[in-house]
Amino acid sequence: MKRPRAEEQHILSLVADDAALLHVATPRVRFVTTSSGPCYEALFNRIELDRATLALPEPLLRIVVAHEVGHATQRNSMLLDFAWTVLAAMALLSIPCIIFAISPDDDLWRTGVPGLGFVLAFFACAKIWRMRAVKRAATFELDADAKAASLCGAASALAALETMAARGCIDEARVDAMRARLMSTSR
Ligand SMILES: [Zn+2]
Repeated sequence: MKRPRAEEQHILSLVADDAALLHVATPRVRFVTTSSGPCYEALFNRIELDRATLALPEPLLRIVVAHEVGHATQRNSMLLDFAWTVLAAMALLSIPCIIFAISPDDDLWRTGVPGLGFVLAFFACAKIWRMRAVKRAATFELDADAKAASLCGAASALAALETMAARGCIDEARVDAMRARLMSTSR
């Protein structure tokens, strides 16, 4: 078995190779002791890998790394989404401030209709925004899976996804999408 240091070096070289093949800046890698699972942080262009991930069999580990590097290709879109979320939240929160500032009668604000309207609008917008975020996240996952398949092959990617789905780590929709990809490429 590889010693931890050698194992980390091995991961770093896998990440660098995948990043070069996907023509993207090589993400940094942070090795963590938590069991939160692998993830990609767009803000820092950083992949986070836990000990359980490092202990995966090599073929599975390669797919996981390729998938996370696949997320690095989405970095601009992720950052743009984040910026839009912050802007939208600020715009929404500025509405009551503006109403309060221009309202000649602040009793109206305390008791009333504008406040209630804002609260309802806020919850409606938050719900729509959350649904949109879930949809976007699912799209990013499928795209990262596709990138992993382009690097490691659809059959290997499917085998890895099936293993992870059996462990309850990922959504079945990702396995179905990879099956469809494999069928379309083998035709
Ligand atoms: Zn992912």
